[in-house]
Amino acid sequence: MRGPGHGHGRIAAQGDPGYTKPMHEMGIAIEIYRTCREAVQEHGEGRLRHVKIAVGELSAVEPDLLSFGWEAVIADTDDEGAELEVEFRRADQRCPNCGESKDRSEGSWFRICPDCGAPLEVRGGDELDVLEVSFEAVENGAPEEQ
Ligand SMILES: [Zn+2]
Repeated sequence: MRGPGHGHGRIAAQGDPGYTKPMHEMGIAIEIYRTCREAVQEHGEGRLRHVKIAVGELSAVEPDLLSFGWEAVIADTDDEGAELEVEFRRADQRCPNCGESKDRSEGSWFRICPDCGAPLEVRGGDELDVLEVSFEAVENGAPEEQ
């Protein structure tokens, strides 16, 4: 199916041609949608109702932009109106000396233990996972053409 041309509208910042490149989140939304469709297909036919995903703080995905991309991806499909629920996950930063989860030192770019100064070990936070896909079964036998 061929959609209408992209690139209309005035999203681009003036005088900055680099800004017109498609947002990264749009590609991810397409990928999520594809994954969800495959999951639905495994169970027969259906319409997507609700999708829950995990987005880690280190995944370089902006949840708001992803939701926006999602709306664009499902528009004009049978799945239009399906909700995307984003569960934002923080990375766990653990100090090997203190053996506890810590926040990085206040005002620092570096992941350093605020108590002992050791480099923190970072775990998780890079998730980009589809957690749940709920869909509504569609009755077979309804004629497609009218
Ligand atoms: Zn420490």
